[in-house]
Amino acid sequence: MSSKPTQSVDEQGKPPDELDSAMATARRQLDRAAAHLDVDPNIVERLKHPAQVHEVAVPVERDDGTLETFIGYRAQHDSVRGPYKGGLRFHPEVNREESIGLSMWMTWKCAVMDLPFGGAKGGVVVDPKSLSDGEKERLTRRFAQELRDVIGPHTDIPAPDMGTDAQTMSWFMDAYSMQEGETVPGVVTGKPPVIGGSEGREEAPGRSVAIVTRAACEYEDRPLSETTVAVQGYGSVGANAARLLEDWGATVVAVSDVNGAIYDPDGLETRSIPTHAEEPEAVTEQDGEVLPNEALLELDVDVVIPAAVGNVITADNAGDVRADIVVEGANGPTTVGADTVLDERGVTVIPDILANAGGVTVSYFEWLQDINRRSWSLERVNDELETEMLKAWDAVRSEVEARGVSWRDAAYIVALDRIGAAHGARGVWP
Ligand code: NAD
Repeated sequence: MSSKPTQSVDEQGKPPDELDSAMATARRQLDRAAAHLDVDPNIVERLKHPAQVHEVAVPVERDDGTLETFIGYRAQHDSVRGPYKGGLRFHPEVNREESIGLSMWMTWKCAVMDLPFGGAKGGVVVDPKSLSDGEKERLTRRFAQELRDVIGPHTDIPAPDMGTDAQTMSWFMDAYSMQEGETVPGVVTGKPPVIGGSEGREEAPGRSVAIVTRAACEYEDRPLSETTVAVQGYGSVGANAARLLEDWGATVVAVSDVNGAIYDPDGLETRSIPTHAEEPEAVTEQDGEVLPNEALLELDVDVVIPAAVGNVITADNAGDVRADIVVEGANGPTTVGADTVLDERGVTVIPDILANAGGVTVSYFEWLQDINRRSWSLERVNDELETEMLKAWDAVRSEVEARGVSWRDAAYIVALDRIGAAHGARGVWP
């Protein structure tokens, strides 16, 4: 799974924009970045809207022989720098507006990483737990067919997201390939390596979080061997980040899952704690003091990595965050109100569109491998990921230093500068 919608949190009494929709956040960040750049306002206005949103009906035969129709979406935001790229989720809360907002986030994320892609997102309104494997396969194949005219390896390349995985991508790729009459591995990423998936793809978002955390510590002259870290969420992103940071010398003092956190001020052995995929929700059964999830965010540590769900650091608790650095592993863990509080308190927040961009970056590597019909070793994938992450880090750092802005604003400035320049160079057709 590669991303989740923002979690609903009861924040009555907050300004209406405190709990952000993905679209409101994406538009607000666009405006903030535009204020620093000399970009044609018409291009900025264009970027507030998706290029296209496809809505499709997906009829599926259930195991009992009845027919059920599901609704699917694919929002395609901007393709000025290359094909659309983004996840497909199977989730009951998938909707048009959220798909648009998340497609905009993907545009910024691809641009900050300088990948030749634009943003897309979509999915089917369904609870995947209510489907048998056979029903899921029929749903995926028919959804692929309904989208066939608007996706493709040079048009729009989906990837796994909430409720979808490597198996879903295999069915999707097979359905597309069968209709094309040839094997087209580059139509989706996140596939198993036996059919063109990339080594290192699953670990990549957590690895990028770890690389960026290490870069942030170096930037603040903080040796990793003297750095304490707390990680919220022990799934693909959180566990991989925690384990790599421990390998590189940091002391991971707390990790959590949905049931709560375990804490040991002397450091946890992260490899002996099962991840969400290895044994779901088993973190609090391990040795260590058990704390509520909220308390993990307020521990006296150097780095906090929220890597579970959105909207966990809010205007209410941002004043209690004692870490000096927050690295966003999850998508949207910090609300706008919290951002203001953290900024005023001098806490460095490394934004999601940079920190967890290892996922889409290795998806790009997968696509390159598919197009060239040549697979890369895990070592090469990890080396190239590190190179790309540090290049993006340097680009964002330059803006932080040149303009005195937050890391989040700097990341959006880097992204908009690249997208605006591409639109300016290409102009408008006809
Ligand atoms: P996952 O399902 O593998 O793991 C999620 C973890 O968070 C589990 O340990 C779960 O118990 C825990 N959790 C769930 N609800 C929680 C809550 N309310 N409080 C505390 N912990 C909770 O998910 P993942 O793939 O690691 O994704 C985590 C976040 O990272 C999401 O926001 C996702 O959008 C984002 N992300 C994932 C990827 C990816 O490719 N995996 C890429 C980019 C961003």
